[in-house]
Amino acid sequence: MEPPANIDDIPKVDLHMHAETLARLDRLVSSRNGVPPHDWAKDVTALAYLPPGMPRLEHGLSARQRSSDNDQLLALNDDDAIFVQWLTDALFESANDGAILVEMRFGGKLRQGFMSLFREAESKVRETYPSFHAEALVTGVWPGRGGASAAFASALQAAEDGLGGIDFIPIPYDREADWSEAYIWAQQAADTGLGITAHAGEFSIANIEAALMLPTVKRIGHGTYAVADPRLIDILLEKDTTLEFCLTSNVVLGAVPSLHDHPIRKLIECGVSVTLASDDPLRLCTSIGREYEIAARLGIGTEQLMEMSSNGIQASFGSLNRPQSSA
Ligand SMILES: [Zn+2]
Repeated sequence: MEPPANIDDIPKVDLHMHAETLARLDRLVSSRNGVPPHDWAKDVTALAYLPPGMPRLEHGLSARQRSSDNDQLLALNDDDAIFVQWLTDALFESANDGAILVEMRFGGKLRQGFMSLFREAESKVRETYPSFHAEALVTGVWPGRGGASAAFASALQAAEDGLGGIDFIPIPYDREADWSEAYIWAQQAADTGLGITAHAGEFSIANIEAALMLPTVKRIGHGTYAVADPRLIDILLEKDTTLEFCLTSNVVLGAVPSLHDHPIRKLIECGVSVTLASDDPLRLCTSIGREYEIAARLGIGTEQLMEMSSNGIQASFGSLNRPQSSA
């Protein structure tokens, strides 16, 4: 395929987008009430005053938990119609921004009928963008984490309804974790047809190698620190594992000191499969289109941007990379 002259015309793929349920609900309710939503840009600015890495990640999470009326907001989410509405809005935003494939990550136990509601939101977007696809993942899976067993069980159950996969987030995150139980869960999930991924290597080299040993793992969230160890690069190449790079997130949370220090170009040069992603677009004040623009500004050409989209399709957990499927 000829690469388009304009980056707006590049079909974009976002395999790493968290649902951001609270932020989405806050925006929906604020708009209904005619008041401004929570100002995430302010939070992003404030994070820069904290030490990079875990302090920013943990503070960012707690700031989200502190924002007002969270319990009331979350209670609204029990209403299926409200859930479908904010989900449709979120998927529409990605499609408006040129995304043809989005994989969205949901934390905690999935509600009854989750996949049919998810497909309802996806099909609303497809009325306007017929080539748009969305898949769902359960994130934050880790044996021993509060609520993880229930979330994992709901994921296994939703596998038969077409859930895309599960996403392990190790504890500890920036130091080596014990993955033995996670491997057992991953095998069990893989046996039901779920795709397997993990967050690893965002703030240190820890857990990258362990994550790459997960049964059937196709891709890793972040993996930014892989660049520090040629052996890890060799494993990535050997296993043909894709790294999901979230450029804005990596700078805001301090995984890298600046965009220009990001290892994306170096890893592409090494032949590692890389794809772009938005991570928490609402809270990080970004979008998948903006992430492609940032990559272009870093000197990544249109052809390589197209390749990153196609790497994303190859590494996705949905039907798009299975041409034999009727979907
Ligand atoms: Zn993430």
